[in-house]
Amino acid sequence: MSLINHVLSYIHMKRCLNDTIFNQLSEFAEEQGIRIYVIGGFVRDCLLDNPGKDIDIVVEGSGIDFARKLASRLGNIKVNYFKNFGTAMFKYKGIEFEFVGARKESYSRNSRKPIVEDGSLKDDQDRRDFTINAMALSLNKNNFGKLIDPFNGLKDLDDRIIKTPLDPDKTFSDDPLRMLRAIRFATRLNFEIEENSYKSIHNNRERLKIISNERISDELNKIILTKKPSRGIKMLESTGLLQIFFPEFQNLKGIESVDGKKHKDNFYHTLEVLDRLSVKTDDLWLRWAAILHDIGKPVTKKYDPETGWTFHGHDFVGSKMVYNIFKKLKLPLNEKMKFVQKLVLLHLRPIALVQDIVSDSAIRRMIFEAGDDIDDLMLLCEADITSKNDLKVKKYLNNFKHVREKIKEIEEKDSIRNFQPPVRGDEIIKTFQLTAGPVVGEIKDAIKEAILSGEIPNEREAAWKFMLKLGKERGLG
Ligand code: ATP
Ligand code: MG
Repeated sequence: MSLINHVLSYIHMKRCLNDTIFNQLSEFAEEQGIRIYVIGGFVRDCLLDNPGKDIDIVVEGSGIDFARKLASRLGNIKVNYFKNFGTAMFKYKGIEFEFVGARKESYSRNSRKPIVEDGSLKDDQDRRDFTINAMALSLNKNNFGKLIDPFNGLKDLDDRIIKTPLDPDKTFSDDPLRMLRAIRFATRLNFEIEENSYKSIHNNRERLKIISNERISDELNKIILTKKPSRGIKMLESTGLLQIFFPEFQNLKGIESVDGKKHKDNFYHTLEVLDRLSVKTDDLWLRWAAILHDIGKPVTKKYDPETGWTFHGHDFVGSKMVYNIFKKLKLPLNEKMKFVQKLVLLHLRPIALVQDIVSDSAIRRMIFEAGDDIDDLMLLCEADITSKNDLKVKKYLNNFKHVREKIKEIEEKDSIRNFQPPVRGDEIIKTFQLTAGPVVGEIKDAIKEAILSGEIPNEREAAWKFMLKLGKERGLG
């Protein structure tokens, strides 16, 4: 590590500990005769000159006792604690503090819950997942601000490497969630996973089966929310983890060839779409829609000597697969899922519109079906245009611009987005003295159709006239 980087690290650390709260903590620890250290993510991010708002503190002694006493000294601050884990947390001046007693851990084979004993700072650092997450800063009077870095995390930070402090097979087998964490940190920080650690993830991949799907999805979502999620997902794939928890995604991979005709690799295509979309949005669920937009392709794939490869109905089949995937991965089965289903179902619609001369009614129908999600649908579809042919991409994107203008124009004129029937069912019943029944729905549908096809404007007066005309034709009233 170069001298200049050493100096920079020193400056970053000094700056991070500048807040008076660290002096208060230090004084209090001295008074209690207890040694305390800042550890983990805060130290790492501070050295990357990006200090966070979560501070983890290791206490050589009881973390809970220390946090309670400190909280009452600082004012009447509410402390939350988990006795089982020996951790306590509170919020102070917008900062989230977590205190844990230094501990030593040992694991049994079939659980990621360790047997825990009291330990020293070093024991606590031994149980950390990566060298860059195991660094501690002393808050004690005699060596305030000293970096305690037994695994040379500072060098790994400088070399941009994710590496386990101990034997990776032990670290990953003890708590297989760490395999996903390794990939998450590598993706987020744009680091490489050290070769032995990477191989070890592959070797220990089956161990992931002892981790709950909630925790897996939690990590997966964090990977999806990084700047360039494809990098993490490629690592999940090549280590064999993806196959274990998300085989549907894995199934997109591969190219088949018949009569020398190949289809594209839908796994890499999907990743390209995801990255392109991620430049435009941080919305997790829109990113999920990108991941799943072609998920129905492997099951609908057919080869026809005349037309080549087809994936007819993959939009519909894919949208039907969303529920089971969300359910298995313990993702929410609420309006977020419905949003993803809808986007997967509609993802071919805008592209169909750019190929021909677009009629207003086709645009109106698309706005009607997408409703408020029309802008997200357009973003997804624009990202979906991946081709090696730059000219083609340019041409399509240009056509999309035209579709967007059309959408805007029609929206201003017809406001279809949140379509409400301009004539209500009870009004139809009253006008024609009907009893509730299928006829009422038919009339309502006919009015809606007339509006979407452009026969009448989306206005009450026109709709009312149209209803009377319909009634007359049907001999009602
Ligand atoms: P983030 O910015 O994502 O919060 P972080 O490093 O703070 O990053 P946390 O999950 O908050 O990550 O964990 C805090 C610290 O606890 C880590 O830096 C690491 O030292 C340790 N840690 C967390 N989870 C594990 C684990 N599964 N195994 C070993 N150490 C862990
Ligand atoms: Mg954290």
